[in-house]
Amino acid sequence: MPEPFSLYVHVPYCRHVCPYCDFNVHAAARPPEEHYTAGLVAELMACGAQEPWGGRRVKTVYLGGGTPSLFSPASIGGIVSAVTRWFGLVDGAEITLEANPGTLSHASLAGYRRAGVNRLSLGAQSFHPRHLQTLGRDHGPDDVRAAVDAAGAVGFENLSLDLIFGVPAETLADWEADLAQAVTLAPAHVSTYALTYESGTPFHAWRARGRLRPVDEDLEAEMGELATARLGSAGYERYEISSYARSGFAARHNLSYWDGSDYLGLGAGAHSFSQEPAPGVRSTNERLPERYLAAVGTTGTAVASVERLTEATARAEFCFTGLRQTVGIDVASFHRRFGTELAAAFPHVSDLIGDGLLDLAAGRLRLTPRGLAFADTVSATFV
Ligand code: SF4
Repeated sequence: MPEPFSLYVHVPYCRHVCPYCDFNVHAAARPPEEHYTAGLVAELMACGAQEPWGGRRVKTVYLGGGTPSLFSPASIGGIVSAVTRWFGLVDGAEITLEANPGTLSHASLAGYRRAGVNRLSLGAQSFHPRHLQTLGRDHGPDDVRAAVDAAGAVGFENLSLDLIFGVPAETLADWEADLAQAVTLAPAHVSTYALTYESGTPFHAWRARGRLRPVDEDLEAEMGELATARLGSAGYERYEISSYARSGFAARHNLSYWDGSDYLGLGAGAHSFSQEPAPGVRSTNERLPERYLAAVGTTGTAVASVERLTEATARAEFCFTGLRQTVGIDVASFHRRFGTELAAAFPHVSDLIGDGLLDLAAGRLRLTPRGLAFADTVSATFV
């Protein structure tokens, strides 16, 4: 059987654009839902007839954005049905919908569930109204609680909450309260992200002008450690730098990014990766929704750029994405994939082991607890 792959579907619309966000999103009070959904289905059909995707089944679907929950259950159901029809889903395929708490109702959640969505990723971010306000979010803590309750009531057992820490003026006690609140809601999965100030965002400009003062680096590090401790003691295992899950609830879609599997990205600005032709190819779709829709309307696809990876880039990517997982990299897989020993390709690994940042045991190379605190620095040494 040909190897199944993961499918990402990008919905590039939000009710408004949050000032820290650097994703490919566009503010739209009324997104062109029908037109865009038709574009996605056209692209899906075209990809289903092409190498390297045709004839393979899908193991995970992730509807991300943007705010996919702006789209109706009928549109989301139409996309899931098209995936089933043109590719086929493996048994028990994980189908995730990213959702903003303020966009959900009991009826819409029930509709998404009926449409085949079996995992919900809620952008909670904080339970403090003033931090949500700083972040420019248009939902409140009660919306998160209501969404979690409603999701449980309609049968979502696999629910994830996203939280952001290090918001200007946030204290360690605030963050501790957010973690406690998340644990009380008992999701299956929690992701925690340190706030970043990405170039081109209002937050980046506001920080430069002194309008926003980032939290102290030491405090941010303490917040990260607190997340691991609090979530760990509540039964959430840290399986990736930013991700914690109860047993059996690690995000299978995200794992396929980190272990170097193939994924197809549909929608404006979506990325795809295929190991074939070796050592790998990455492609990116037209970023602007109008250009994306025009392209799929004409040719069925909307690829704007294709990059054939060099052997060196493919090896480096395999390592720095693999090291995001706390189980680390399977050294034998590296050898099978690239025909050389990892230690020969990256001789500096022995120094990182000597410095206590990496650990090699039972055939896996992983970040140590100390290495996890310096994950970006360690990853950069592979590039
Ligand atoms: S809701 Fe999420 S994707 Fe949309 S603008 Fe805000 S942070 Fe970005």
